[in-house]
Amino acid sequence: MDEVSGEPAVQLQLSGVTRKFNEVVAVDGIDLDVRAGEIFALLGPSGCGKSTSLRMIAGLEKIDQGSISMRGRALADAERGTFLPSEKRNIAMVFQSYAVWPHMTVAQNVGFPLRMRRVKRAERRRRVEEILAVTGLEAVADRPATLLSGGQQQRVALARALVYTPDLLLLDEPLSNLDAKLRIQMRREIRRLNQELGITMLFVTHDQDEALSLADRLAVMNNGKVEQVGRPMELYENPRTPFVRDFLGRLIVVEGVLTGDGERRRVQLDTATRRVGEIVGTDIPADLSEGDRVGVYLRPEDVDLKAGSTDGPAPNQVAAQVLSSAYLGDSFEYVLDIAGSNVLLSAPRRVVHQPGDTVYVQVDPRRAMVWPL
Ligand code: ADP
Repeated sequence: MDEVSGEPAVQLQLSGVTRKFNEVVAVDGIDLDVRAGEIFALLGPSGCGKSTSLRMIAGLEKIDQGSISMRGRALADAERGTFLPSEKRNIAMVFQSYAVWPHMTVAQNVGFPLRMRRVKRAERRRRVEEILAVTGLEAVADRPATLLSGGQQQRVALARALVYTPDLLLLDEPLSNLDAKLRIQMRREIRRLNQELGITMLFVTHDQDEALSLADRLAVMNNGKVEQVGRPMELYENPRTPFVRDFLGRLIVVEGVLTGDGERRRVQLDTATRRVGEIVGTDIPADLSEGDRVGVYLRPEDVDLKAGSTDGPAPNQVAAQVLSSAYLGDSFEYVLDIAGSNVLLSAPRRVVHQPGDTVYVQVDPRRAMVWPL
């Protein structure tokens, strides 16, 4: 903890870090604070600069501008010409390939970093036993590492990274090579190791499920820049940029026009030819004014389907047509035409709607997001 602010201390700090490859700006002036003990994710599409960032933190790539520091100590500072080589950073890295040495047993693999650091034999044995116990690898300690399953090999790679108590553990897409069941298991394992050992972890991924489920906080990156940093729920529920909004989760977008003022501000939803409903009582950004075209963004999991009625849609209902339906056992999946767009929506099997039916999409206005178009 930081004694003044009460916040956890900053473990790793990036300030204005930039890396260029000829004309390509791979990483474009990013600022990041990773707090001591947290699991932090860099999330973004392929080519946004995640791996380059990870490699600069590890000391495998130089930086062109800015600085990187660990607990206030400079690891790299472009202006001052500081660059600590990888082996002097006390940072561990687990690659996607695990890179487990085939000619060594599990215990030898895990003890290798200690041998490299010339740790005495008795101390080495003690620390290897301890970390094998924490990672649940005691029973396979004397097996050749290559005879292990993929999940176990990843565990060996983790144990080998953690055995010398690094200041930071870097992970490259830690869950993406695993099948669904193993993924849940490894997620729990990484969380447990993070809590028991108190080691700060930073991982990169392009997979939002991986980032949302494993990270305490994450940074969404796009085009070499950080778009937004926050807890998973903050980013999912309050995206601050169109990129973050569209990158995380699925959205239904209905267009409309802003009408009324003050308390009576509302969005009239329309298509080129007709009104399909209106949204009232939702937060509307203050810089938008009457007559502006806007998009109302809805999460599919936040809406309910209601049967249509002759009275037309009530406030916070949007008229839609059922195009097709599929029975999935526990639910129905409908393809709806909502204001001219096709939208896939699942609904409980209690009420059945038929293709051709008019239905109303019930919106919770507190969960609707209004953005300028
Ligand atoms: P990500 O990990 O998000 O997929 P990268 O950090 O690998 O992104 O790449 C960011 C950008 O930098 C991409 O445009 C990529 O082509 C470019 N890049 C990365 N490494 C090199 C390199 N060694 N030489 C030239 N361009 C590179």
